[in-house]
Order: sequence, then C-alpha cells, then structure tokens
Amino acid sequence: MKLRDVVAGANASMYHRLDFQKIRGVYYPRSEAEVVEAIEQARAKGYEITPKGGGSGLSGACTGGNRDRFIVSTLQMKELLTISKDQGYVDVQPGATPDEINEVLEPMGMKLYVSPSSRDIATLGGLLATDGGGNDTWANGTMRDNTVRVKMVLYDGRRLIVDWEGVRSDDAELALELNKKDMTIHDVASAHGTLGFVTELRVTIRPLVEEHLMGAIAVYEDFDALGSALDRMIKSETPIRYGEAIVEAHKDVRDDLTPPILILEFPEKEKASIAETTDFEEVDSGELERLKDIRIKLPKRNPNEGVQAALFEGYGFFEDSLRGMQSRMEAINGLLIEDGFEPFAKYGHGPSKWYLGDNTPAFGLIMHSREIRPTDKTGKELFETVLKIVDLCDDMGITPKPEHKWPFSDKAKKTRIEELRTIIGEGFNAFIFEPECASETLSSMV
Ligand SMILES: Cc1cc2nc3c(=O)[nH]c(=O)nc-3n(C[C@H](O)[C@H](O)[C@H](O)COP(=O)(O)OP(=O)(O)OC[C@H]3O[C@@H](n4cnc5c(N)ncnc54)[C@H](O)[C@@H]3O)c2cc1C
Repeated sequence: MKLRDVVAGANASMYHRLDFQKIRGVYYPRSEAEVVEAIEQARAKGYEITPKGGGSGLSGACTGGNRDRFIVSTLQMKELLTISKDQGYVDVQPGATPDEINEVLEPMGMKLYVSPSSRDIATLGGLLATDGGGNDTWANGTMRDNTVRVKMVLYDGRRLIVDWEGVRSDDAELALELNKKDMTIHDVASAHGTLGFVTELRVTIRPLVEEHLMGAIAVYEDFDALGSALDRMIKSETPIRYGEAIVEAHKDVRDDLTPPILILEFPEKEKASIAETTDFEEVDSGELERLKDIRIKLPKRNPNEGVQAALFEGYGFFEDSLRGMQSRMEAINGLLIEDGFEPFAKYGHGPSKWYLGDNTPAFGLIMHSREIRPTDKTGKELFETVLKIVDLCDDMGITPKPEHKWPFSDKAKKTRIEELRTIIGEGFNAFIFEPECASETLSSMV
C-alpha cells in the first residue's frame, strides 16, 4: 500500500476499511481546466470519480465505496477569486474552508456565516455537498442558504452554472432539460457529490456584527421538558445566538453537570423574551467558556473503560418528535443497550435548522451520539445496529439531516438525484445508488 493511498483515503467516518488497490488515481487540480482533464482521464479508463474535500464527512460518501475510482481532491483549489463587499458575496474555489475565508474577510469587517464545528477542515464544496452548518444555522441557515450559485463540471466534461433560478450551460439542450426539471441549488445541496464536481461557489458574506451577548444554562427534568423548551424557542423565533444541548453524558465525562441541559448565549437585551421560553440561570463568561468546552470535548473524551463508537450521527428531532423526546430517547437507548452498546454521550445544536430530503426546512435539535462499543461485534454487526436505528428513527418521526442519514434511507432525495442523473450522467459516487450500498458495501467498510 502506498502512503499516497492512505492520505487520499483518510476520512472522519467510521468507514475505514478501504480497498486501496481500487483507488486508481488521485488528482489535485488547481483550476477548472485541470478538473476537466482529471475527469477525462477517469472516463477514458471507465473509472468513477469521488470528489473529495477535507474528508471530514461522516456519511461515507467521500470514500467512494471501494469501487474502482479516481479521487479528485479540492485541496489545491483554495483561491478567493472575487470579493464584493458592496454586493455581499465572494467567489471562491471549492477547497477553501470557512476559517480560511474568514481570515481574509474579518479584517475587512465582513464574514461568511457558516460555522460547523469542523470549519477549520471542512471545505465549501464538501459543506454544500452535505448541506452543513454549525450551531448558528438557527440564525444564519445552512450552507445552501448561504450559496448564491455554483459552477460544476459533469462526468462528460460539460459545464453547468446552477443558482436559485435554474441552470445555465453552453449546452442549451442540457440546460433546457434540467430547467424543465426545475433544478436549482436545492439539488446540489446535500447531493454528496453525486451530480458533478463543484469548481466554484458564490457565497453570501455579511458585515461582522458587534453585539453584547450573555451566557446562561438551563437544566431540565427530563427529555420532554428539554424538547418542549426548544419547541417554544422555535415558535417564538427566539434570538438565541448559540444553543447547544448536552442531552445525556456518561458518568466518566459529565463533570458536575446534570443533563439534559442547554447552554445558551443571547443578546443581553433579549433576556426577558428568552425567559418566556425557558427558565435559566445566568453564567459569567468564564463559566460559559467552561460549559462550551465540556460540550465540545464530549465526543473527544474516551470512557475510563472500553472504546467509544460514533455509531449514528445527527438524529433530527423536530415537531412531534421534539415535543415527545422522552419516549423516543427511551426507545433509542433501549435498542442500543439490547445490541450491547453503552450510551456514552448525546449532544447537539438546538435550536437548529436543516432541510428534509424534499427540501422542506426543519427546525429542532440535531443530536449526535457516542456509545461504548461491545468488544465482541464485527463491523457488519455494528452496522446492522445503525440500520435498525435508521428504521426506528423513521418510525418515530426523527429525521436526521442528510449528511448523516444519506445514503441509507433518504428516499425523496435519492429519487430526485436519480432522476437528474439520467440527464446529466452517472460517473460520480455511483456506489450510493447500488441497492446493496448500505447492507453490503458500507457495512464491509466498518
Ligand atoms: C469533528 C467534526 C465536527 C463536525 N461538525 C460538524 C458541524 O458542526 N456541522 C456539520 O454540518 N457537519 C459537521 N461535521 C461533518 C463534516 O465536517 C461536514 O459534513 C463537511 O461538510 C464535510 O466537508 P469536507 O470538505 O470534509 O467534505 P468531504 O468529507 O471530503 O466530502 C463530503 C462529501 O462532499 C463531496 N464533495 C466534496 N467536495 C466536492 C466538490 N467540490 N464537488 C462535489 N462534491 C464534493 C464528497 O464527494 C462527499 O460526498 C463534523 C465533522 C467532524 C469530523
């Protein structure tokens, strides 16, 4: 195995058992022309293409699923092409991260408001392909909400410009066909690189906001009380700037906290309006930083005994499932315990915004989880529990954001992309569309 393969294959998901022999080429283009060249070479040899950004995606899509493939990385495509402070946008190559862009913009008093916890490694191309966002999606939306237009190269080298109105292309017939299908940014967002290679994005930037924020902690009796408080915040369009829940935490990591809790930050002048949605206790800036630190380190800390697994990320509690979290949490933990896992930590962004597979916005709590894994289970058996959780979530109205659910069961999104791929070609991340993708391909890679 070559070092090049290991580097190219590195990814943050639990799908690590890559067949490196099947990575037939790795390209690091610097321009659209070089992307076209890489794609032409893959096509001439009949290989599929896996677009790759920072490799921080958790769904397994950036692995390419162990088929004969070329990896085309964006890590040499980081250039900021245009900055229009007046019109509030930048044009940027897909390999730049939010932190890299903001390093240039903040001294100019501007900012790109897309802040996933992974903002130092996640690229804009990857963020749009997974429709990512941080604990500020409630205020600032997801990556798609901050994207004005994209340029893409398709598997046959044709090019598209996609915005919120539709599609333009030098190939007028192709544009016509896609516009008949009403293709927009919605389709590129969370498509997991299956439609084409994004070579440039125009994203919205806004002035840096200076406001005086205060910190608070809200402690709840049970999960229903937590979910109901979030539901009230959503209904009253609360001006929360930072909302993070520690839903559950194992005794090894919970310190003095008694979850479920919410860590909150909001403008001081909004104190009274927040108090109408939840009881809370004010905390000073030192304590706020300590709480945020506990939350951010939860997934990074290991249990005193055993090894933790990130079995399933991104439970999306909204509407009924948010108000009725208690019974759902009991069912999820019941399933985990029955399959030999020990719940370790559950935490997440709330109130938060994401999109369902049919592009309807959802508002609620995006909850991540970690569990101590049983020592006697194979990767395949671990993955079987993931599939059971997906089914359980479907039954209980918990709809994870596509980054986490895809490619297992987001049927609406999958059907839509299949429809578009019959028009634009099928050479990118095709493994996602195999019937055995979830049961065989991904489970063999755990
Ligand atoms: C510690 C940690 C914290 C995280 N926190 C958050 C969070 O707060 N919020 C959140 O939303 N996510 C979070 N994530 C998940 C991850 O950062 C996001 O999914 C991110 O969008 C992935 O970006 P990437 O550049 O790493 O993409 P990759 O992992 O390289 O790829 C992801 C997908 O994008 C496709 N892709 C990449 N570039 C292109 C392109 N140019 N054209 C077409 N398709 C492309 C790939 O094929 C793949 O399907 C976290 C992950 C980690 C490890």
